[in-house]
Amino acid sequence: MTTQDTIFGKIIRREIPADIVYEDDLAIAFRDVNPQAPIHVLVIPKQPIPRLSEADEEGDQALLGHLLLTVKHVAALLGLQKGYRVVINNGNDGGQTVSHLHLHILGGRFMTWPPG
Ligand code: 5GP
Repeated sequence: MTTQDTIFGKIIRREIPADIVYEDDLAIAFRDVNPQAPIHVLVIPKQPIPRLSEADEEGDQALLGHLLLTVKHVAALLGLQKGYRVVINNGNDGGQTVSHLHLHILGGRFMTWPPG
């Protein structure tokens, strides 16, 4: 399955609705349909990378940096000055359910540790 076949590909192509909070040439951010915190947003690359472990050491370096800086930007847009958690679930044991790289931004409450 290619990344474009996932539900996130459909969101990028506007084939299904999403509450999009930010978009640029490389990335898009939208609210998680099943929020685990008062604010739960996913930041994803428009380029199809199934998971972090499949990112290319050279070719994807700038994109991965852009995604982290997008998290910073979106968190500020959403008013998360008190802090937030960034999560990347990778593969089966990581709990990844959608095979399109995504960074969770969780905030709006104190985040406990360790995660489940
Ligand atoms: P994962 O478990 O792969 O790290 O995270 C996938 C996330 O995508 C989950 O938190 C899930 O709620 C979210 N999600 C799955 N399908 C949709 C959808 O159609 N729309 C939105 N906005 N989020 C989705």
